[in-house]
Amino acid sequence: MNTEVYDLKTQYEEGMEAAKNALCRGELVIFPTETVYGLGADAKNEQAVAKIYAVKGRPSNNPLIAHIWDFQQIEQIADQISPLAMKLMRAFWPGPFTVVLHSKGVLPKSVSGGLNTIAVRMPSDIYAREMLRRSGKIVVAPSANLSGSPSTTTAQQCLDDFQGKVPIILDGGVCSVGLESTVCQITDDIPVILRPGGITAEMIEEQAGIVKISHAVLHGVAPGENAPSPGMMYKHYAPKAKVRIIEGNREAIANVVKSMYDKEDKDGKKPCIFCSAERVVVYKNRRIYSLGATPEDAAKVLFTALREADKQGIDSIYFEGVEHEGIGLAIANRIIRAAGFDVVNADKEVEVEKHIACMHG
Ligand code: AMP
Ligand code: MG
Repeated sequence: MNTEVYDLKTQYEEGMEAAKNALCRGELVIFPTETVYGLGADAKNEQAVAKIYAVKGRPSNNPLIAHIWDFQQIEQIADQISPLAMKLMRAFWPGPFTVVLHSKGVLPKSVSGGLNTIAVRMPSDIYAREMLRRSGKIVVAPSANLSGSPSTTTAQQCLDDFQGKVPIILDGGVCSVGLESTVCQITDDIPVILRPGGITAEMIEEQAGIVKISHAVLHGVAPGENAPSPGMMYKHYAPKAKVRIIEGNREAIANVVKSMYDKEDKDGKKPCIFCSAERVVVYKNRRIYSLGATPEDAAKVLFTALREADKQGIDSIYFEGVEHEGIGLAIANRIIRAAGFDVVNADKEVEVEKHIACMHG
């Protein structure tokens, strides 16, 4: 299959028409959103939905998000929408906010992976909105990456994963948020965050007065435990490199990272440190990927950084732990999965080293 890439800055009309026609024919379209790129299909076309799972290699019980552009479309697919759900949708739509609601059961079962709820989002990206409006379709779309790989935030990264497998890619430039949407279940009195994202826990709490963050967001799902969101069960965002998160006070982190890095470097391996711009100086003369000045910058470049590391044959990535406030919670949620929950407490490591030094001294 030939993959046609349309640069929407210069090929807007052709791109939009091609996307509309492909969706109407039951084919897949990769399109930009403000979060990450999406791999879209007509939500009502069961065979088109099946192609998403096949092309991504996505487990069939990991449901998809339905994308709409108009508020009226929500009534077609969701049921028993509470005033609280309405309030939050009105506050955060269009934007990086996905609501999990009771499903009306009108879409193919495969969309919800067998659940009786449905995830719905209204993106704010102008290109995504125009594609949805023009096609007249509700478009189901997971992130446009091979299952288990970091999500994509540029058209080139989509091409890296799907060249020859998807007929159309709409290139809308770099995604502005860079992490997938906040997934928030609102089937009860209390909104529950199943996946943190650009709409933060603090923002939801301000609107709802209360918010719960699912335990699995930072701790994963234990074997045999029921996952509130199927996506929590799977390995995610994993580059080929071994990722480690180092937490603790800043000085202890630096000591532990330097000592682990230097040992690997000496052994002929290729380690790399991911840290904020202000911390670059701490690790001078080592391989560093600066994630920028703010947590928002870090969110925007995180997946690119993970993909770059693979391209450069990096063996291990040392990640300085981040604060869990605001978008920091979403960053922590992604890196902890990339690390397979491997978190080193630097404060403890330093204590152990001091103890050993004492014993030998
Ligand atoms: P992705 O589209 O790759 O960003 O993933 C969508 C995320 O939303 C996955 O983690 C899914 O498990 C989650 N999700 C989709 N539908 C539901 C639902 N009905 N209930 C809970 N989580 C859902
Ligand atoms: Mg995904």
